[in-house]
Amino acid sequence: MQTEPLRDWHALSTAEALACLDTAPQGLSETEAALRLQAHGPNSLPAPRGRSPLLRFLAQFHNALIYFLLASALAALLLGHAVDALVIVAVVVVNAVVGFIQEGRAEKALSGMESLISDKAHVVRGGLRESVDAATLVPGDVVMLEAGDRVPADLRLIRVRALAIEEAALTGESVAAEKGELPVAADTALAERSAMAYSGTLVARGQATGVVVATGTATEIGRISALLQSVPSLATPLLRQIDSFAAKLTAAISLGAAALFAFAVLVRGFDWVDALIAVVALAVGAIPEGLPAVITITLAIGVQRMAARKAVIRKLPAVETLGATSVICTDKTGTLTRNEMMVSRVMAGVHELRVEGSGYQPEGAITCRGGSDAAAAIAAAADIVRCGVLCNDAHLRRSDGIWTVTGDPMEGALIALARKAGIDEADLRGEWHRVDEIPFDASHRLMATLRRDAAGPSVVFIKGAPEAVLALGGSREDAEAWDLGTTRAADEGERVLGFAMRELPPATERLDFGLLQGATMLGLMGFIDPPREEARLAIAECRSAGIAVKMITGDHVGTALAIARQLALADTPRALTGTQIEAMSDAELAEAVPHTAVFARASPEHKLRIVRAQQSRGAIVAMTGDGVNDAPSLKQADVGTAMGVSGTQAAREAAEMVLLDDNFASIVAAVREGRTVYDNIRKVIAWTLPTNGGEGIAVILAILVGFALPMTATQILWINLVMTVTLGLVLAFEPPGPGIMTRPPRRRDAPLLSAFLLWRVLLVSVLFAAVLLAVFFGAQWAGDSLREARTMVVNMLVIAEIFYLFNVRYMHMRSLSHAGLQGTRAVLIAVGGAVIAQLAFTYAPPLQEVFDTAPLSIRDGAAMLAIGAAMFFLLEAEKTLMRKLGWFEELA
Ligand code: ATP
Repeated sequence: MQTEPLRDWHALSTAEALACLDTAPQGLSETEAALRLQAHGPNSLPAPRGRSPLLRFLAQFHNALIYFLLASALAALLLGHAVDALVIVAVVVVNAVVGFIQEGRAEKALSGMESLISDKAHVVRGGLRESVDAATLVPGDVVMLEAGDRVPADLRLIRVRALAIEEAALTGESVAAEKGELPVAADTALAERSAMAYSGTLVARGQATGVVVATGTATEIGRISALLQSVPSLATPLLRQIDSFAAKLTAAISLGAAALFAFAVLVRGFDWVDALIAVVALAVGAIPEGLPAVITITLAIGVQRMAARKAVIRKLPAVETLGATSVICTDKTGTLTRNEMMVSRVMAGVHELRVEGSGYQPEGAITCRGGSDAAAAIAAAADIVRCGVLCNDAHLRRSDGIWTVTGDPMEGALIALARKAGIDEADLRGEWHRVDEIPFDASHRLMATLRRDAAGPSVVFIKGAPEAVLALGGSREDAEAWDLGTTRAADEGERVLGFAMRELPPATERLDFGLLQGATMLGLMGFIDPPREEARLAIAECRSAGIAVKMITGDHVGTALAIARQLALADTPRALTGTQIEAMSDAELAEAVPHTAVFARASPEHKLRIVRAQQSRGAIVAMTGDGVNDAPSLKQADVGTAMGVSGTQAAREAAEMVLLDDNFASIVAAVREGRTVYDNIRKVIAWTLPTNGGEGIAVILAILVGFALPMTATQILWINLVMTVTLGLVLAFEPPGPGIMTRPPRRRDAPLLSAFLLWRVLLVSVLFAAVLLAVFFGAQWAGDSLREARTMVVNMLVIAEIFYLFNVRYMHMRSLSHAGLQGTRAVLIAVGGAVIAQLAFTYAPPLQEVFDTAPLSIRDGAAMLAIGAAMFFLLEAEKTLMRKLGWFEELA
């Protein structure tokens, strides 16, 4: 891939570097960039290699239980029980295959996620600024960097403004390195090459432009290693909880089995070989060895469903946390609103103009409010409209008849306004040569450009938050009048910008804040940015689900409150401003937060305090962010959520989740999927444990009391096998149940095995055991052979499992409904599979031979179905009773 000869780029002057690369500050042309892409290959590093499939498969066998089973199979074989040995091996292999496939799916689901969030780079090509996929960068491309960007390739910096870069990934140095334009000596160490920005490092502050000198594997990071990415880890707190639970259960069962074996041989006088096989089978039946694999797949399915709803999970534990989220803190612009700006009001001096139109289309009438002379008003507004164009980096484009912006939407709106007023922005920008600028920054909330007219004067054009612009100068009375105007526009939900200008000595080359002082206020503009309809619906859903939504915005309090009202964020939304937050102690803030829906003019530091305040009250907080300074609050939040479209790389890397569409509704969709995952995991447990428990109790009773085993060892293994590949999987695929967003979020400390779940497992285990034994003795009493009775017991257990599955599907609600009984495709396929397996087990001669079964009559079958149905109704009645009794909080 690397064809450029290695050079000491850091020792060349910027002009030499540009010349060597045959490029210019205006960048390459599109055609040249395409040619170079063919020559150099994509700007990407090879993906890390995961574990090989064979190793992953073998790893499935690396487990104490499996060793135990394999040893038992060997023992069975040596003792002449070839069939039992074979069935044990089959159980082991089937479990391994199922585990292998599920783990593979889970890993794939996760590793596919990063590729959904493609890295973008801002380049200048053919003199125009555009955003391209970072993989398409080529040597010679001119790239712009700003705070929060990950440097997309190795760059020789050609223009630098207060740039500092964190290079720990490359140099191990944790303090951000200051950068400049001047060349350094050829033998300077990597960490000291201040004229370079290296691929993979992170811009901490400032801006810069640089020319690409190396891409892909030719970059410094590409040469030292390709191990930047790692294979995602599948461990989550929940999985660890399950693993440790399964380990404890396995230990307990093994001990119990050993005791039972001793009892069977010593007290009951069983043949020790028979007893061993029976006890092993029991242990196999009782240990939920498939549980971790099913839960992993449940999480993976959650991740996939969230991605389909535009929420990409970067860290697997977030799937669980999302389901418990009790507060969502969100930005306003672009997340709750559409971020499609249009200037609707211009206030210049005594005049107020109304602007019509739609979107960025540069057509629409400008009329005068309050009856003043329209022509005079438009003339008075000429300065402010011009200022809007000259303090601006955006372009409007038209494709397929639709006008779109490249750059900041508010700046796009300013260009549309200029065209409506008959001003051509290209001419104006050509006339006024741009000398320097102070870029917009959320901390000082304004932007300024220094421009020089061909005729001579230098002028600084300023736009920003009204109070920030007013603070630059002007009389007290003026300020009060403008404040009134701002409040009036903001209260109608408009976003307000102030504009100012100041003439400077012609030779001024560099702009700083001192030079802005004394600027003349030109006026205000109000922008409309309509709320997203889907956000309004999602907020309503949150409120019914007991999730509080807080808007944290850099915008004016009036604008924020007006939008909050339009979105019904709270019944009567209350607001705090950044200044008020600053005056509060942490305790006071924690006190105020529950009653406050809007935080306006808030900075990233305020965001951090707001998250902490809520967490101190036990809340689980999801928080959105996009800027580099949002990283601390994203890390602090339980589910840090970054913006995939507008966000910086720094924010994305600090976040647990990235929204592909920057849309608030996607967060809520992810919360709903998170709740579904947690529910499904509990369903899997509620269904799996009693299966094992029921047969366990029946067999243990037989040994303790001393009657014939109701199932043979091989039959227990068969049940295990059939359940693992059929019904055991389907609960992972359950769609969100009804009512999932009408109950409050689960508590942070709620145990997975809640009191209700334990009660359920116990009750159903006992019920199953009772039914199995009743069938076993009933059949023999009615004259059936032992063989027939056992065949009935096995079939009864599977039938009971199927009916119970329908109980479990809706754990909190009645399952006795059309939707509840209809099942999903997965449920029907699994039930079909189990039925076919049981028919073969009962009627196919080879299986009858292996498993010692006998054909059953239709009457027997009907009786078992009736018993299964009766159990279903009984457990439904129990659910209703428990809800009436109110014993369990979660049923309330
Ligand atoms: P959020 O996305 O959280 O709602 P925001 O976009 O409202 O935040 P910032 O981007 O921090 O917040 O903007 C804060 C204020 O700075 C805006 O209300 C506006 O007055 C001003 N502002 C925003 N963008 C620009 C810009 N490009 N030039 C000048 N001023 C700007």
